[in-house]
Amino acid sequence: MRAWAVVENKAPLQCIEVDDPVPVGTEVVVDVSHCGVCHSDLHFWEGSYDMGGGQIMRLRDRGVTLPRAIGHEISGRIIAHGPDAEGIEIGEQCAVYPWIGCGDCDRCAAGDDNLCMRQQSLGVLRHGGFAERVVVPHARYLVPLNGIDPAWAATFGCSGITVLSAIKKLQPQAPDSPVLLIGAGGLGLSAIAMLKALGHDRIISADIDARKREAALDMGATQAIDSAAADAAQQVEAAAGGKLSGAIDFVNVTATAQLATAVLGKGGKLIMVGVGGGQIPLSLAGMVFLARTVQGSNTGTPQDLRDVVSLAAAGKLSRIPLHRMPKDEANRAMTLLNENQVSGRIVLTKGAGASEHALARKSADP
Ligand code: NAD
Ligand code: ZN
Repeated sequence: MRAWAVVENKAPLQCIEVDDPVPVGTEVVVDVSHCGVCHSDLHFWEGSYDMGGGQIMRLRDRGVTLPRAIGHEISGRIIAHGPDAEGIEIGEQCAVYPWIGCGDCDRCAAGDDNLCMRQQSLGVLRHGGFAERVVVPHARYLVPLNGIDPAWAATFGCSGITVLSAIKKLQPQAPDSPVLLIGAGGLGLSAIAMLKALGHDRIISADIDARKREAALDMGATQAIDSAAADAAQQVEAAAGGKLSGAIDFVNVTATAQLATAVLGKGGKLIMVGVGGGQIPLSLAGMVFLARTVQGSNTGTPQDLRDVVSLAAAGKLSRIPLHRMPKDEANRAMTLLNENQVSGRIVLTKGAGASEHALARKSADP
């Protein structure tokens, strides 16, 4: 099968031939119909992370080998399965949970594959959705869509569950208590949709890009603040009517973490999701006097994926702007995302052909 793969870090993806999957045991083969392009795909393509303090983490030192077909926001149809796969039907359209654990540890037993120390995630350690087909080790990683748009549902495997998981970490939070969301890209917009679906109605979005702030307001944010403004913290507090009790940072660089900690009041919670990198000093006594929580959040669980699909099926979740592009334009999709020109999510589709959209920003889905 064909796979759009990172062959060399920071070089254009290449369309390579990889072995067609033959499922064994409980494995299920999914013919990928849609794959979202996440900023984490860009980090993978770069091959390293800024860990702060001059430390760099290289993916090759963490067992990642190239070439690798990236892409972890996957939906598609079941086309084959091994003899031990149960509870699925050939032809069924599913969302795929990509953050696959080892299956043997306590975390996996508890259903927390995202916290497994020996993950085998699709698009990272196994070929992902930029390939024509993916191998899913077990049916429990598949959630039937029952008619939900597969382009939208593809994004649930990362954006959807990541924002749900981060928002759960903010709880308890009164519905009218203002929440700050830093970053209004694919995740930030999904978080606005998720907060609203869960009944929250005061959402302050902050982004450095005016078009992203506009998109946040279109999604239902109450206010949108320029986080690069010198008085950004004062603007956030003015919008909130005082200090806040919750913030989620979808950028998570030094400047944004400083903004979030500046506006949180006593008992405030900062949930870190972005992996922009850097570091902040942490006042140890200050953590106590302010009874603060600073917590990292890494994707979500298979149950989170079932919950996101249920919210969508119940009509509670708004769609973020989606921009369909054929998989043959994977490189253009990556470039647009790298240039910060994508508002919402690009979703790669099967097959070749002209892109539906000249510039992603201008052409939200109907
Ligand atoms: P995106 O490219 O769609 O959006 C990023 C947004 O951040 C853009 O709107 C951009 O304008 C804004 N931004 C950039 N720098 C900023 C700054 N200094 N201040 C304010 N806004 C700024 O990216 P995405 O797909 O939404 O992903 C966001 C981050 O989350 C990435 O680092 C990604 O790797 C990470 N991520 C983490 C998890 C997790 O489980 N923790 C899951 C998925 C993605
Ligand atoms: Zn992702």
